[in-house]
Amino acid sequence: MSFEELPVQCGVVFEGERIRRGDMQVELGGPKSEQKFEIAYVRPLGQVEDGKIEIVGQDLPQIEEGSRVPLGIVVEVAGKEVEEDLEGVIERRIHEFINFVEGMMHLNQRGDIWIRLSKKSYQKGFNSFKHLGTVLVHLFKTDLPIIEKIQVTFITDTDKIAELYDEVLARYDARDARTRGLKDEEVDTFYGCQLCQSFAPTHMCVITAQRYANCGAISWFDGRAAARVDPKGPLFGIPKGKVIDGFKGEYEGVNQSYKEKTLGSVTEVCLYSAFEKPHTSCGCFEAIAFIIPEVDGLGVMHRDFKGNAVNGLPFSTMADSTAGGRQIPGFHGLAIEYLRSPKFLQVDGGWERIVWLPKAVKDRVAEFIPKEMVDKIPTENDVSDIEELKTYLEDHTHPVVKRWAELGAAARLEEEERAETEAGLAVPGQMVATVPGVGGGLQIIFKNARIYAEKVIIKRIDKRRK
Ligand code: SF4
Repeated sequence: MSFEELPVQCGVVFEGERIRRGDMQVELGGPKSEQKFEIAYVRPLGQVEDGKIEIVGQDLPQIEEGSRVPLGIVVEVAGKEVEEDLEGVIERRIHEFINFVEGMMHLNQRGDIWIRLSKKSYQKGFNSFKHLGTVLVHLFKTDLPIIEKIQVTFITDTDKIAELYDEVLARYDARDARTRGLKDEEVDTFYGCQLCQSFAPTHMCVITAQRYANCGAISWFDGRAAARVDPKGPLFGIPKGKVIDGFKGEYEGVNQSYKEKTLGSVTEVCLYSAFEKPHTSCGCFEAIAFIIPEVDGLGVMHRDFKGNAVNGLPFSTMADSTAGGRQIPGFHGLAIEYLRSPKFLQVDGGWERIVWLPKAVKDRVAEFIPKEMVDKIPTENDVSDIEELKTYLEDHTHPVVKRWAELGAAARLEEEERAETEAGLAVPGQMVATVPGVGGGLQIIFKNARIYAEKVIIKRIDKRRK
């Protein structure tokens, strides 16, 4: 079947469609599937059979209506001008192109994919992975003409997915590792990505050498390669321009780009803070940094975490508070790779401000956590609520504990200064009032007080009249 013969429509207009559980024919991947992935490989020309679409395992008609199955999608491309640097971007565009299909929803990326096909589209005849493959082959070749050959494989066979899984994860890791060592100060261009604006119109990712894209799928190198081959596409260069504040990561070029691409909704961004003019968050973030006000620290929770974080909230609830292209101080979407960056939330205290992490994330980034902090940051295995968290942080002399004392002192000082300022407008110092007729048993001290009263009447209360 050719692209023109597809039984459903395909276009930007369908991006952002949500398929509810009751309307779905099938769910592919998703939170309930342990292993799932999508991956792109750049291959030599001779190794790719152009237009080939392969299915390993069950095709759509063999999958029971309303059920869930794991899925692996492998897109292999070749072309004289197709560089390996493009793999991340090609992979991310699988998300975009699947969302173009009427009645299909694609969320997340890499090893987190979550796809649904609606009953309506299935009944219209979109009833084989071959159709989805046709969409991908056509759109990739149309949008990126440098791709000379492309083949796509859909895998629903769980054994095959398991066989490839570790290799796929290792490939993601190798890709991420390439930018480590490159510093934001050493480059004059960052890259912007607008791919998620169909879901979050005021969101734009700024991808720097030391701040990975929120989805964790696009590195600075990927951005550079994409902007080079398709400068009018969803990824583009952002000249850094004047440095407004290097420590906070505020740049004139970035602010300007935000202004233009969000039509003025977002005008100032500090790239390395979750509190001060934070980077926007769409909904595809791999993880969330979230404020835990009771301890003045930040927790980090990843999308795959099962159950509630230490504050009693699940990922979905906190994702609602974070997503939508907004700048929400204290709720910040990010990539796991950003946790490995020396710039990781440096304005807010970096690792010294992190007070809780899921064990799976801690294990993944362990070698990037400063040695003295590793044991000070508990996981779900160490604490299960805020009270336990407080005790743990105190017992392990976490740096935030010092902040509690400082914040307490600062709050007291602030209160005293406020009172002093107000008192300065009236009666400075301390005033002791003696009250005639009350006898020797009562003294009232007005300290830094400002009182406006024409008369003060103090009465002895007769207990019998009470
Ligand atoms: S999360 Fe950011 S980088 Fe990733 S696709 Fe969306 S806009 Fe692009």
